[in-house]
Amino acid sequence: MKAPDFAYLRPNTLEEAVAALGRFGDDARILAGGQTLMALQNFRMASAEILFDINWIPGLSDIHEEPDCLVIGSLVRYAGLEASSLIERDAPLLSEAVGHIAHPAVRNRGTIGGSLALGDPAAEMPACMLALNAEMVLCDANGERRVPADEFFLGLYETTLRPDEILTAVRIPKARPSQCYAFDEVARRRGDFALAGLAIAGKAEGSALHSVRLAYFGVADRPVLAVSAMAMLEGQSLTAELIDRVREAAIGELDPPDDPATPAAYRRHLGGVLVARLLGQLRERLL
Ligand SMILES: Cc1cc2nc3c(=O)[nH]c(=O)nc-3n(C[C@H](O)[C@H](O)[C@H](O)COP(=O)(O)OP(=O)(O)OC[C@H]3O[C@@H](n4cnc5c(N)ncnc54)[C@H](O)[C@@H]3O)c2cc1C
Repeated sequence: MKAPDFAYLRPNTLEEAVAALGRFGDDARILAGGQTLMALQNFRMASAEILFDINWIPGLSDIHEEPDCLVIGSLVRYAGLEASSLIERDAPLLSEAVGHIAHPAVRNRGTIGGSLALGDPAAEMPACMLALNAEMVLCDANGERRVPADEFFLGLYETTLRPDEILTAVRIPKARPSQCYAFDEVARRRGDFALAGLAIAGKAEGSALHSVRLAYFGVADRPVLAVSAMAMLEGQSLTAELIDRVREAAIGELDPPDDPATPAAYRRHLGGVLVARLLGQLRERLL
């Protein structure tokens, strides 16, 4: 099937883009990597009348560092994250996670901003943002606001982004030498969307863990933190017994949707398997 007719606009500056978005509102959709939006248009599951191609706006494809954080432009492609030595050094969780997204052809075009704006509950990047305590930078014609990842994802494909806003960047606190992290997911085939996945980030002082965030994806209508399980890890050293209790707690607090292909109980079980596996890996690294 072919997409319905649409107008194509190509703003050359951010100011031009947000001014025009403000005028067109709901009729317009931003086109970033196009890996999801063009498929939705072609299947007529989306029917935007105006596509706003932001790929020509300077500055949105850069990764730069500030003293305490990395600023990743929304148009940075997954392949750009994979290749970046800054990301590898200061946000290694992303380097680990990004290879799980789809296949190289999709990673060459898909953008971090597109993934976050879409808010797919089974996507890797939103959960990483939650684990890393990232902030989203959103711009409209009146200026910029910053929204913590904890408040950004509202539900199934729903975020706090308004139709007149562009997600311009994400700000990620730089990994300190004390940062510990781990990532894994279970999918039917390599490159498929995850049935369940987990991104972990926190601090290790000696063998004691602090501020560990367990961000699950694929198990709810948005990425979710397993907060009771997280609380059990605070100040603790990992032991087999603690990992087992955390696994039980995580299973208890996950409330996945039930669907015929993947029953809720199976996703909950995967949530337990993942947390036990990843905490086991962290324990090995911290020994
Ligand atoms: C075969 C295949 C397999 C895939 N597998 C995975 C997978 O395993 N994991 C995964 O996470 N994803 C997967 N994807 C989706 C892929 O990651 C998309 O690239 C991503 O979801 C959207 O990014 P995009 O840059 O292509 O955005 P687009 O398709 O251009 O846009 C997606 C949506 O976000 C909005 N948007 C985009 N950028 C902005 C912005 N800066 N500000 C505001 N709104 C914006 C658009 O208006 C649109 O509504 C897969 C896609 C394909 C085709």
